[in-house]
Amino acid sequence: MRKKIAIASGKGGTGKTSVSVNLAAQLSDTLNPDSQHVALVDLDVEEPNSLLFFKDAERFYHDDESRPVPVWDEKACTLCNKCSQVCEFNAIAFLGTKVLVFPDLCHSCHACSVLCPEDALPMQEKRMGELSYYKPTQSNLSLSEYRLDIGQPSAVPLISSAIKRINQIPGDNQIFLLDAPPGTSCPMMEIVKSSDFVLLVTEPTPFGLHDLQLAVETVEKIDRPMAVVLNKAGSGADHLIDNFCELEGIPIIARIPQSRKVAEAYSRGELVYKINDEFHEIYKSFSEDLVNMLKTLDLE
Ligand code: SF4
Ligand code: SF4
Repeated sequence: MRKKIAIASGKGGTGKTSVSVNLAAQLSDTLNPDSQHVALVDLDVEEPNSLLFFKDAERFYHDDESRPVPVWDEKACTLCNKCSQVCEFNAIAFLGTKVLVFPDLCHSCHACSVLCPEDALPMQEKRMGELSYYKPTQSNLSLSEYRLDIGQPSAVPLISSAIKRINQIPGDNQIFLLDAPPGTSCPMMEIVKSSDFVLLVTEPTPFGLHDLQLAVETVEKIDRPMAVVLNKAGSGADHLIDNFCELEGIPIIARIPQSRKVAEAYSRGELVYKINDEFHEIYKSFSEDLVNMLKTLDLE
């Protein structure tokens, strides 16, 4: 089975990272290590923190992530002004005697570079962040982390680049868990649209419901199958989430109870599913149900 699963939430603070790291570790325990690999990809690029929960993981690869932007070659330019007219993102200004490129506005579409009759806008790589691959102790689990440089105007190019890399990883027996940034803006959409299935993590509060509704709307527009993970269950108004999901026909695949022990384990950077039998069983059944849901996708 080869599947990409986005783990998203309409708002921050729902426990999305906790769900991602515990699900990844439990899935790797549940699945046959000889035949199925689990890759947790931390795409919460402005503050990736999954690594905090895999303290023994060793980093085995590290690289810069960059994207192409045009650079003006003054000597070659004949000041025809085609470039600023073609750029849909106002990333090029034609000033009559010179051309200004604004790399932060550039979407790396190559249009100006291709259309310039004098080859006066060659594309050059510009660093936007970095990636690291880690090997946790479980044999069939890997962790990759993408980190955006401070000052970068958008997370989307780095996320797109990460997804391209994921798509190039060979092998049919791969489950990728893509930990998305909170919210429903472009970075989350970029991840959801490249995924086969979406897990939406929420909490039982009016705010949780409001942001879950926005997240569901977004996923529906992109037309992806989804399930809800109710975190901190029993701590508030579970019925709000239950009623909404029933009305929308969205399954609640797991309920993670609110617990002081969970909060303490989280604050120590420990995996919650290991703290006692109750949480082990919850994550085990969550993993099994998820695998079964993914299998049904192949049948549809
Ligand atoms: S399209 Fe090329 S030649 Fe024309 S103004 Fe832009 S950089 Fe100069
Ligand atoms: S590469 Fe595309 S977005 Fe960037 S400056 Fe050229 S036309 Fe504009």
